[in-house]
Amino acid sequence: MATELDAGWAIDWLRRCAAVIAGHRTELIELDRAIGDGDHGENLDRGFRAVTAKLDTDVPDTPGAAFKLAAMTLMSKVGGAAGPLYGTAFLRAATAAGDAPALDAPALAAALAAGRDGVVARGKAETGDKTMIDAWTPAVEAAAAAADRGATPAELLGEAATAAEAGAVATDPMVARKGRASYLGERSAGHRDPGAASSALILRAAAEAAAAVEPGGSPAGGPSA
Ligand code: ADP
Ligand code: MG
Repeated sequence: MATELDAGWAIDWLRRCAAVIAGHRTELIELDRAIGDGDHGENLDRGFRAVTAKLDTDVPDTPGAAFKLAAMTLMSKVGGAAGPLYGTAFLRAATAAGDAPALDAPALAAALAAGRDGVVARGKAETGDKTMIDAWTPAVEAAAAAADRGATPAELLGEAATAAEAGAVATDPMVARKGRASYLGERSAGHRDPGAASSALILRAAAEAAAAVEPGGSPAGGPSA
């Protein structure tokens, strides 16, 4: 098991995000149609397609550079609430990662926490408001616990993704207090928050990219493959 994740992992993660969001595009549209305006799947699909297009010409050499590329592209291509929120998350994660060539478990936990803090700074949501924060915060807590325990990066991201998935499911009965869904009041209960669902998909993609890393190297298709 690799003890650090490099730019190859980060690039693989972003490509996996594009694939998984494309695969769940309709589901995310339907979740957003129930309690929002139905654009979440389309917005994110457009954004991550643009990220992969950018990666075809521009190969980041650190995880931080890959996160920054994602941030800039998502901010410019994704409309609605989610573009600036995900853009801020990736930008804060990029700042936390700095120019390190690879991230160990504590650095990954710190980057995830920085990303979550960026979403909170931008959107002012708290846990229980039925937003993507309800997926991110349990993920950040699971990541911190995994890092404290000495888990590998792949274990850490796997546990973060599992926590995010549970967090997304936990939004089902919540009444939205932030974002467009809050206009529905009590009628927002009984539906999963689309941003929490997409956050869980994105974090699972990070874990799968980490699980695909060979000991001491990048995944197939990464820069050092
Ligand atoms: P819009 O609501 O503008 O159509 P999207 O449909 O792309 O944007 O994204 C909706 C998602 O954004 C919600 O499901 C929720 O998870 C997230 N969201 C909205 N407002 C906030 C906020 N203030 N803080 C955190 N997340 C938010
Ligand atoms: Mg929407």
